[in-house]
Formats: sequence, structure tokens, C-alpha cells
Amino acid sequence: MKKHKYIFVTGGVMSGVGKGIAASSIGAIMKARGFVVTMIKIDPYINMDAGTMNPTEHGEVFVLEDGDETDQDMGNYERFLNISLSRINYMTTGRVYQEVIRKERNLEYKGKNVEVVPDIPFEVIRRIELASDKANSDITIIEIGGTIGEYQNMLFLEAARMMKSKAHDDVAFVMVSYLPIPSKIGEMKTKPTQYASRTLNSAGIQTDVIIARSAVPLDQKRKDKIAMFCNIKPEGVISAPDVESIYDVPINFEKDNLSKILGDVLKLDLKKRPLNFGPWKTFVKRSKLVKKEVHIAVIGKYFSSGEFILSDVYISVLEALKYSAYKLNHKIKLHYLGSKIFEDDKNKLKNLKKYDGILVPGGFGSTGIEGLISVIKYARENKIPYFGLCYGMQLLVIEYARNVLKLKDANTAEINPSSKNLVIDIMPDQKQKLAQCNYGGSMRLGAYEAVLSRGTIAYNSYKEDIIQERHRHRYEVNPLYIEKLINTGLVFSGKSPDGILMEIAELSKKVHPFFLGTQFHPEFLARPLAPHPLFTAFLKSAINKG
Ligand code: GLN
Repeated sequence: MKKHKYIFVTGGVMSGVGKGIAASSIGAIMKARGFVVTMIKIDPYINMDAGTMNPTEHGEVFVLEDGDETDQDMGNYERFLNISLSRINYMTTGRVYQEVIRKERNLEYKGKNVEVVPDIPFEVIRRIELASDKANSDITIIEIGGTIGEYQNMLFLEAARMMKSKAHDDVAFVMVSYLPIPSKIGEMKTKPTQYASRTLNSAGIQTDVIIARSAVPLDQKRKDKIAMFCNIKPEGVISAPDVESIYDVPINFEKDNLSKILGDVLKLDLKKRPLNFGPWKTFVKRSKLVKKEVHIAVIGKYFSSGEFILSDVYISVLEALKYSAYKLNHKIKLHYLGSKIFEDDKNKLKNLKKYDGILVPGGFGSTGIEGLISVIKYARENKIPYFGLCYGMQLLVIEYARNVLKLKDANTAEINPSSKNLVIDIMPDQKQKLAQCNYGGSMRLGAYEAVLSRGTIAYNSYKEDIIQERHRHRYEVNPLYIEKLINTGLVFSGKSPDGILMEIAELSKKVHPFFLGTQFHPEFLARPLAPHPLFTAFLKSAINKG
């Protein structure tokens, strides 16, 4: 087995300052130098996964190929590195404790007293090593969630400290810290960073690199100050000002020689590993040159938290739209609309005409659903390109059943189980799980195959007979209605290999330029350097409309 090198990325005293993007960017740089890189996210909460959390609280749930429901940072890793990760790359406090308790119950500790320290950090280390072996990585990047000084992530920091003390040259530390510029003072403040660095010291960790996040670039005076008070070399202070695009970040880090600094700490021979950033740079350049705009209305239910718009909930969808827009030489202009407004005032539907396309992403529960169904009807009747993802596909089927098949009470069992026409129904195995209140990690999750029918929009986009896409749902198109729906013109262009589950619904191009929904989540497979064919097809028709 290869010997692995480890880079731990921690926060400072503030969260939400781009630690995930910083970790992803370090990964992208090391990959561009020809290393095999894998990434691990540690979320210090008790939850076993992100699947049971409210999206307005936690943001997007990113689904991995093996069905793990994880944090949105895992999506950033996959997109920045163009890799697919698995369950072992994602860790929570709950997972670590559960495994330790399982081993204890199985007598695997052979009668010894099992203790929080060192047994919890040992299990953390075991997982990090397992993920590294599985990926056969040269470098493993581990992002420790949360902020420095909080109680929750201490045992993960302790694991990192133990790894460093065991193999000094194999472990490096990067701290991502924010430097505020209070508006009344107008001066960039380094104290929170100094404080965070000292707090790390008290956990036995000396950081090697500080990524200094701020609104503007760092000046030399502050670089020197941080170096002096945080005990690192001046070149270890990387200026990371706010940028127009997150995809600039790896390029900017390399301008400050980040890989060389980490290479020195980890004793890596970089001379034989020139940086191959070509395709990434081309992608970033193109994203800046595009001028023409395509306007897409994203209509969902998880947009607002108090006064703030929460676009993070659909981050993979938004990124997927960007990649395909760039490929088509356009800039994406998104308009987030809460679906409830269309319930309260049907006249508002007319406003949808001004958009080039409408997208309804995944969702759960009944709030705003009638509004979404009216939107889909409007898109169908007015030939506005429509793309529905998961719930967006199920609602497409309900709309079609209500207004074309004339089943006025068509519905999904998720909203009204007593409706006579459940065109979307619960999957039989799911019924049992819900009866047992078995909610966590129990949906139809992860990658499944679908067989495409030739001559359809789906086939013409993928140009493949069999595809594989990631899922996260409990409900499905009810087999009892499939024939009736087909007879009234709905096309099921993608089905599970056994023909039972409907994976894609669409209308023929003769009837509508683009009216298509997927039971799966295509957004999880869109990558900057490999835009997703369905997003591209949707935007192509949106651009043609405009
Ligand atoms: N609520 C629907 C289901 O569970 C759709 C889920 C989704 O959009 N991810 O089937």
C-alpha cells in the first residue's frame, strides 16, 4: 500500500468563510500536479448523515454514488477534482461513536476500558486511513468542520494532532481564517486570526499555512504580522480575497505558491510534477468571456430564511446550470421564485413569460405544491422550456394527469394519500419503512441505471442506451397509470432496466420544445469540465426561445 500524505484544513473563529472551497482548491491544485488525491469531510454533529436535516438549516444534501446523504462540500470536492467519493469519505461524530460502540458490544476491545480519548480519535484515524487506502491516494485532504475553539470538533483535532506526532513529515495543517474590516474602523483586523491560531496551539497543533479570507487582498504589513504572531513563515500566509467566481480560487492560491509551501512541509518532490492547469484555466477564462445571458426561473420552496435568500439549498443545480451555460457561450441569470406566490395570485403566472426557461428542483412535503403545479401547467401550455428534477418530475406527471388525462384529483401519496388517483405513489418497500418510522438513509438512494428510448430528447442528449444517475426519493410514478399517461401523449423515455420505475418523463419535441422531468438528480453528476447533457439540452432550448 502507498504511503499517504495528509493535509488537514481547519477553520478559524468564524464559519461560512469558504473553507470547503479552500479545501477543494487545494485538492484541485494537487491533482493538477499529478498526485492521486482524495478528500474527506468531517461534520462534527451527532446526525449520522445530512439526510434528516431541514434544508433551510443545513443547505443541500449531496448524494454520493453509493447513496450516502452528505454535506454540500462533498459536491464541491467532486466538482473541483472531477472524482466520485463514497461513504468512507464522509464522517460525523454520530458515525464515529456508533462504530466505537458497535465494536465495544462485539467485544472487539477485548475487555478493556473504552475511553473517549484515545478510542474516539483512533476510530477517526482508522477512517482517514481506510479512505486513503481505498483511493490509493498520494494525498488525502481532510476538512474538519466547525470553528476553532468550539467543543464539538475537539476530538477530531486530537486525531489530527496524533497523526502529526506520529509522522511529522506526512501531515500538514492549513487554517482558513477570516479577517474582518469593520466598517466604522475601515481597517483589516488580524486579531481573530491570531486568536484562532493560539487556540489551535492549545490543542497541540501548529498550523503551517493560513489562508487569509477577506473582502480585499492582504497587504504585506498584515502578512508579516500574521506570520509573526501565528508562528509561521511569511510565505505561508496566503491572501484569499473575495472573488467573482469560486473557480478562480485554485488559480489564485497557486499565484501565492501554495502547493510549494505544502510540498515543503510534506517533503514532496514537486520538480517532477509540473502544474497542469490547462483545462481548468480554459474553463475559467470562458466563464468570464461569455456575455449573452439566459434567464432561468428556479421555482422552489426552500428559498428564504428570514430576510435572506438561501440559494445554497440548490447549489448543485445552480452549478450544473452554469457549466452548461458556459458550454453554450452564455451566462446564466437565475431568478429564484418561491412557489407560494403562484398559489396566492394566479395572475402572477403571466410574469413567467419573460424567462427563457423554468426549472423546478427536488423537494418534499406539501407547502407551495399547488403553486408549482400551476407553474408547470403554464410552462406546458405556453411552450416555455421546463426541466423538473425529482419532485419537479413527479409534479409534471401530476399536472399532466390532471389537465390532459382529466383526472382532476390526481396527486401524490406524499401530499394526499386518500386521493382516488395517486399517479405518484409510495414504493412498496418504502411503505414498510415509514410504518416503522425508519426515516434516516432509507429512501431510494444513490446510483441506479436507466434504459433510454431512442429518438427521445433524453436519448438525443445522452446519446447512450444505458445511463447511471443518482437518486433520492420515496415515491414513484404509479404503474397503474403509465399506460393511460402514454396514451395521452406523455413519453417515458427512461426506465429502470426491469421496466418498472419511470426515470424520465417528457413530451415529444413536436408538441413542446422542452418539457422533461427526471426522477433522479442529474445535478449531482455535472462537473465544470464535463457539463451534464440534460442541463445542456434544457438550456439550448431556453436559448432558442429567447
Ligand atoms: N418528495 C419526493 C419523493 O420523496 C421527491 C424527492 C426529491 O425531490 N428529492 O419521492
